[in-house]
Amino acid sequence: MSTLDTRSIHAGEPSPRIEGAVTLPLFQTATYTHEDPDAPPRYVRYSNSPNHEALHEKLASLTRTESTLVTASGMAAISAALLSLLDAGDHLVAPRSLYGGTLSLFDDLLPRLGIEHTLVTGNTREAWDAALQPNTTVLYAESIANPLLAVRDLEAMVDVADAYDLVAVIDNTFASPVNLRPAELGFDLVLHSGTKYLGGHSDLAAGVVAGPNDLLDNVRHTTKLLGGMLDPHACFLLHRSLKTLGVRVRKQNETAQAVAEVLTHHDGIHRVRYPGLASHPHHDRASTLLDGFGGMVSFDLAPEADVDAFFEALSLPIRAPSLGGVETLITQPIHTSHKEVAPSVRDKLGITERLVRLSVGLEGSDDLVDDLTTALDTSLTA
Ligand SMILES: *Cc1c(COP(=O)(O)O)cnc(C)c1O
Repeated sequence: MSTLDTRSIHAGEPSPRIEGAVTLPLFQTATYTHEDPDAPPRYVRYSNSPNHEALHEKLASLTRTESTLVTASGMAAISAALLSLLDAGDHLVAPRSLYGGTLSLFDDLLPRLGIEHTLVTGNTREAWDAALQPNTTVLYAESIANPLLAVRDLEAMVDVADAYDLVAVIDNTFASPVNLRPAELGFDLVLHSGTKYLGGHSDLAAGVVAGPNDLLDNVRHTTKLLGGMLDPHACFLLHRSLKTLGVRVRKQNETAQAVAEVLTHHDGIHRVRYPGLASHPHHDRASTLLDGFGGMVSFDLAPEADVDAFFEALSLPIRAPSLGGVETLITQPIHTSHKEVAPSVRDKLGITERLVRLSVGLEGSDDLVDDLTTALDTSLTA
């Protein structure tokens, strides 16, 4: 099974098919008979139902890893992965621009467990080296970072992790396995919020941890103790969603590129930030690393454009946080992901009230472009 599209449909499906069912049935049961004392018990919190097992195998095939675990949310995946790796006295290094929930985990929870971190501003091997301490054990990254869509030097990060024997962990939510499989670059643990592209329909919460068996054994153990496993019904929905992952994400890549190119030339726009544009500071690196530039587009409205009038004039994009679904969603990061970040820090990062983040859905590309350009026209005459 060579292509991702074929694997997304056939990998992990039970053989023979259960009662001949073409799609994997939902096993909505918390526990299973246990007649043989030597066999491992099946129980919903142990993540070993038929729905879990088929999903784990499909995700391992898509992420190109040995083993995977699904969790109750992306944050459940991130917290279980980090708590399985880090002990009191350990130190973690990560770039400064991170998902808000992850940043709060580093700031609020890990210090209470005696785990320190350093956030790195630069994007060079030297910057990473300089942040290391004798007790550093984990290097943490995101493949495409929110909200300015930075693409870091992931190869340099893996080099540093290898040189100092650190565990390299990456949150690959924004790229999805269609556009990047970080295990192929040498990352040890790959994390996803399944709530976004993997689920793809804004109707479920899930997370994924993927990596080698020995590391996953620890994550499974931690999740058994913390209890943040995925419910069978959500497994069923996620399993179904994965079968269209390739089709969805490639279409979102295409529409995002078209939107980014058109917006660049509109007078209502100051600047478009999309890794697929030559004007993006990391375009060359993104072209080398990624198979597609993703479905997220950020842009700054021009000073002449009225921000409120722009949002009011939109008819297709829905104003809501989150991303990766079939409906196009639009937000101002200062009111959502970066609400808690101090204004002085936001300004330094370039996150102003004029910054808009678009999660491109599956509407017709021309319809979306027309809707956005009409709203921009309105924003200039308001
Ligand atoms: C949404 C998101 C998360 C958290 O996922 P949940 O499913 O909401 O817990 C983590 N990382 C990134 C990059 C995200 O976009």
